[in-house]
Amino acid sequence: MGLAEICQERMRLLQEFSRTARAYADQVREMADLTIMGLHSEVEVVRRRCRAAWDKLEKARIALYRHEADHQCDLAQSFSPQS
Ligand SMILES: [Zn+2]
Repeated sequence: MGLAEICQERMRLLQEFSRTARAYADQVREMADLTIMGLHSEVEVVRRRCRAAWDKLEKARIALYRHEADHQCDLAQSFSPQS
């Protein structure tokens, strides 16, 4: 089995999902660190950024899943599409 051709749009959406997930994880880590240090005034600021990062992640996830469902490009591509 050779390298499957991956759908370019799926690739782009996967990268976006991965990037937004990392950004969200960074915000969560920062919020946790500030909470542990007892910096409550700063926690509120980071909590809002956390929320915004989550929204971006959720949008990226939905965009990827919707593309896969519509385009069916997550299915095994061992068969030829009928076109
Ligand atoms: Zn696709």
